[in-house]
Amino acid sequence: MSTTTDYETMPRDMLAQTQFERLQSTLNRVYRNVAFYKSAFDEAGIDIESVKSVDDIRRLPFTTKEDLRKSYPYNMFAVPLRDIVRIHSTAGRTGRPIAIGYTHNDIRNWSEQVARVLIAAGVTQNDFVQIAFDYNMFTGGFGIHYGAERLGASVIPASQSGNIQRQIHIMKDYKTTVLLSTPTHALRVAANLQTMGIHPEELSLKTAIMGAEPWGEATRAKIEEKLRCSAYNIYGINEMMGPGVAGECRERNGLHINEDHYIIEIVDPASGEPRPPGEEGELVITTITREGFPLIRYRTGDISALEEGACPCGRTTLRMRRVSARTDDMFTVNGTSVFPSFIADIIRKAAGGGEPLFQIFLDNEEGEDMMEVQVAVVDRMFDDEVKKLLGLKQAIASDIEGETGVQPRITFVEQGTLRTAPGGKVRPVIDRR
Ligand code: ZN
Repeated sequence: MSTTTDYETMPRDMLAQTQFERLQSTLNRVYRNVAFYKSAFDEAGIDIESVKSVDDIRRLPFTTKEDLRKSYPYNMFAVPLRDIVRIHSTAGRTGRPIAIGYTHNDIRNWSEQVARVLIAAGVTQNDFVQIAFDYNMFTGGFGIHYGAERLGASVIPASQSGNIQRQIHIMKDYKTTVLLSTPTHALRVAANLQTMGIHPEELSLKTAIMGAEPWGEATRAKIEEKLRCSAYNIYGINEMMGPGVAGECRERNGLHINEDHYIIEIVDPASGEPRPPGEEGELVITTITREGFPLIRYRTGDISALEEGACPCGRTTLRMRRVSARTDDMFTVNGTSVFPSFIADIIRKAAGGGEPLFQIFLDNEEGEDMMEVQVAVVDRMFDDEVKKLLGLKQAIASDIEGETGVQPRITFVEQGTLRTAPGGKVRPVIDRR
């Protein structure tokens, strides 16, 4: 494959025309083949023939995660099941899972999209690509695998689970040049290198391509320093096939979106109104080439912003800022997704009711995520007996550990010490990683 495809460097007006034609045919297909969309459009009084430009997309109703859950397993599929060649799913930790179906063409397009984001980060067919995402119902492992093979790299399907030291031996012996993993996994590799007495210079690693978790510049700097490589950010979600929606080029000034496959909007999470470029809001994605599982205006829950203006790399596609947060405040601890509402339920149960006030602090030490939960003291929760207090602390800690696999530190604090956002609301999560 060449360095960039025509679609990535297309003049913006031609790209808009391509997007519009693909949007039209997608709308026709979902209206005909997916009962959910037929009734959603009918109820909103939308005649799909009246969609005359990409901007008209704003008149269409949103699709939510709840809609997908209700359609489990196959009601959102837009093709007969015999045309589906692969099924992945979300973990479904917080409710019913979502099943995602792919046709032959979907798999081909997906591989192409992943190949592009890898190439943008500098991967070539001379690279040894070690994939440290799990190969299972989750889309990460298989998605990256097919894309890396598509571009002709030598693929090492190491997966994520299992012995980390064995993974490091593979990296060293096979002379891995590109590591694909979560940032948490990369930090764990770094910490174990130290334990094993292997100097990072003994590895052949040049590039780390990270995704599947929100991460910041501090983590990037740490990974680059400890593994002696350049780290790049990629974006994708299970509902959108998986990895491959967007990825950083070597300029690292935002993630180029594969706009010939996706129309991206940023909306105000509360009102659903569009936000101008540069301003943060919820990422909303419409698929325009997908056959098995097309989605119209899907609300991802991820907070990002669009960057305008040309990128020195020559790609003309829009760039999205790294995902900074989620509308539901979901966060990940050592790879497990956690919602603050879980923690709230646990504290409520332990304290015997009431609306608990708490704040979660996240840190990373030597590759392991650490979680501290500060719970505001409410009179009713306690009496003076120290024994009861300790019991409550233990109950909260063991329930959280059972739910997340992380042993949290629980601290009781005065309500006034919790950090608030502008407007006075307590910020549920302070991520210091
Ligand atoms: Zn670029």
